[in-house]
Amino acid sequence: TGSPSTETAWSRGQGACKAADLFTEQYATAPHGVWASPGRVNFIGEHTDYNGGLCLPIALPHATYAAMSRRDDDVVRICSRVHGEVVTWQGTLEEILRRKVKGWTAYTAGVVWGFHDAGYQCTGFDVALESCVPLGAGLSSSAAVECAVALGLDELDGFGLAADDRGRAELVDIAVATENTVVGAPTGGLDQAASLRTQEGRALLLDCLDTSTRQVPFDLAASGLQLLVIDTRARHSLNDGQYASRRASCEQAAALLGVDTLRQIDDLGAAIAMMPDATTAARVRHVVTEIQRVQDFVALMDAGRVLDVGPLMNESHESLRDDYEVSCAELDVAVAAARLAGALGARMTGGGFGGSAIALVREVDGAAVQDAVRAQYREHGFIAPKIHGVTPGRSGARVS
Ligand code: ADP
Ligand code: MG
Repeated sequence: TGSPSTETAWSRGQGACKAADLFTEQYATAPHGVWASPGRVNFIGEHTDYNGGLCLPIALPHATYAAMSRRDDDVVRICSRVHGEVVTWQGTLEEILRRKVKGWTAYTAGVVWGFHDAGYQCTGFDVALESCVPLGAGLSSSAAVECAVALGLDELDGFGLAADDRGRAELVDIAVATENTVVGAPTGGLDQAASLRTQEGRALLLDCLDTSTRQVPFDLAASGLQLLVIDTRARHSLNDGQYASRRASCEQAAALLGVDTLRQIDDLGAAIAMMPDATTAARVRHVVTEIQRVQDFVALMDAGRVLDVGPLMNESHESLRDDYEVSCAELDVAVAAARLAGALGARMTGGGFGGSAIALVREVDGAAVQDAVRAQYREHGFIAPKIHGVTPGRSGARVS
């Protein structure tokens, strides 16, 4: 899709072949099957998931592919091609259940712990992973890999959760528990739900209070529009601690207000008046106004007014930059350049401090917006961004 300079995702067939080939190369036998699960990009509703709020992700066409076979013993072997190099790990189920897995293996082997915690016992297995989701780009390679492995284990061990949306919601919880407890990243559930519960061509309106969803039709091409995902390639290491501290501020604010989550606030002015300092007040203002923006965004979509959603995206960015303070120079420059070159709206997406921005553009302006972002990056001395033109992909499934 888009101009020739955009990055393209693998087709499901290509991804399945790559993963199966790596499996055969590593383990000298063919895999039982290949499962894929996509990364995601969130249209609007950032830092709302852990506040019981609303968000609106789409599944990316970019996915992680897991070629897998069941074993008869308690051994687990994992390999993954990461930045062109094959990394490997071998251990036992017991080690995983004692959470003796660190770094990238926590996201993969750790899923066994997630299943166990939910009452499902996995057998040993071999897995080979290939992915076209850029790692650490804010496009949720972490959920993609967790969910691809979870889908494989679900079928190999006969749990059958992937068969319907209710079971998939359970797989989401398993992947979230893995990331929260084994990896130690306090993420809120948006990423895994987008990867496992989104129908093709739809955006997923996810209500994080009760995990209910609505599939929102999202045909940008029909309106002559294109979504550009701009991977800034900036990875500021502040990320983890800052994410946890934002989450802690929200929990502290909710406790002060006597509510479970900031979703329950219905009088923003009164809530802000009760905050101990201007910073906490700003954090609360972001969350409450962002949830409202998701509602307004979906109302416009429902009314067939997709051409009017741009200002909501812009307001979302400003709120994340000024009130939530999770943006950075690379994100701000990408957003400003895209808007100047004619984007209807542009914002950072994902957790922040680097990662990716999105721009909603008329197809005819797509090339000019990309050129403008690249030119501004050169001017600022930033590394060249990677720009993807994306259409909503489908949720994870067996692909071979
Ligand atoms: P994001 O989810 O935005 O890509 P995260 O920091 O949440 O960024 O997750 C990235 C980490 O997830 C990587 O550093 C790596 O440890 C792990 N990971 C993601 N995809 C893979 C993969 N295909 N193989 C091995 N590890 C992976
Ligand atoms: Mg992640």
